[in-house]
Amino acid sequence: MVVTRSSDQLATEVTPGQIPPAYLPGETGSDPQSARSADGPPADGPVRSEREENSGSRRRLEYPPAPQPLPVPVVDNHAHLDFRDGQVAVTVTEHLDTAQALGAAGAVLVGYDVASSEFSVAAAADEPRAKAAVALHPNEAPVLAEEGTYDAAFSRITELASAEHVVAIGETGLDYFRTGEDRRAAQHASFRDHLALAAERGLPVQIHDRDAHTDVVNVLSDTNQLPPAVVLHCFSGDAELARICNERGWYMSFAGTVTFKNAQPLRDALAIADPQLILVETDCPFLTPHPYRGQPNAPYMVAHTMRLMAEVRAAELGQLCQQVMFNTTQVYGEWT
Ligand SMILES: [Zn+2]
Ligand SMILES: [Zn+2]
Repeated sequence: MVVTRSSDQLATEVTPGQIPPAYLPGETGSDPQSARSADGPPADGPVRSEREENSGSRRRLEYPPAPQPLPVPVVDNHAHLDFRDGQVAVTVTEHLDTAQALGAAGAVLVGYDVASSEFSVAAAADEPRAKAAVALHPNEAPVLAEEGTYDAAFSRITELASAEHVVAIGETGLDYFRTGEDRRAAQHASFRDHLALAAERGLPVQIHDRDAHTDVVNVLSDTNQLPPAVVLHCFSGDAELARICNERGWYMSFAGTVTFKNAQPLRDALAIADPQLILVETDCPFLTPHPYRGQPNAPYMVAHTMRLMAEVRAAELGQLCQQVMFNTTQVYGEWT
């Protein structure tokens, strides 16, 4: 079956089971060496390591084949499209054309430092299917604090937060996997700064929580004024954390990790999550779903993750997509 996006001349033909054309080296994908426009990965932007994070072994740099399209569109609510991965530099428009052909209506482009937050804002200004989130990542903030540049960087984030098409503050939060105890005070201070900014601007917050569930819950619990919506991005908790989220009304955004073989606790969490609090994301180019773990990831792969999520919840796929899309608009507003 060939799925064609028919709305304009940029029609993208994507065939389930085959690597989408924009992701094939030397074809319609762009030359990584060529100058980038605002909607492509910056020529001097970050490149994902060719080695696995844990094992250090070489990754396969081929993009996964296209999954079957979704019957009802959803949004990838956490993507890093400024990152280059694989052998092709794919533009935001190419990413979103392919995603749309497979039933993904768009993506929230997430910031982790000043440059990536500026990229998100610029890309969202060019591309109506993209919205922006801006923030300093919990691993980035302590480094900036040590350099003495945190205040200037955070003040730039507060400026960017007023830009058009900014729909969230993110990603902020706590990461005890990469940041040692000596730097946690700076990480907590930054998390609280971002929560206060999001609350003040009336924007949702996207939280990065890695090996820090208890403290994330504690910080949120003793924050006087929470942002209008709290999203735990790449939700990594178990059923117990899902119960806390259900009680507090915090959104759980599931990534490709929910498909990993060793992720049964995460599937247990998904199984009991309040349907009104479920979101989906790729966190691309990272966290490519099983069985493509380690390969590059892109927004079109939300279709793959959504299918597994429907299985885990024994839900009808179209109904779950509809619910996730509804939840997405509750958090970020209408998607046009
Ligand atoms: Zn994250
Ligand atoms: Zn991320």
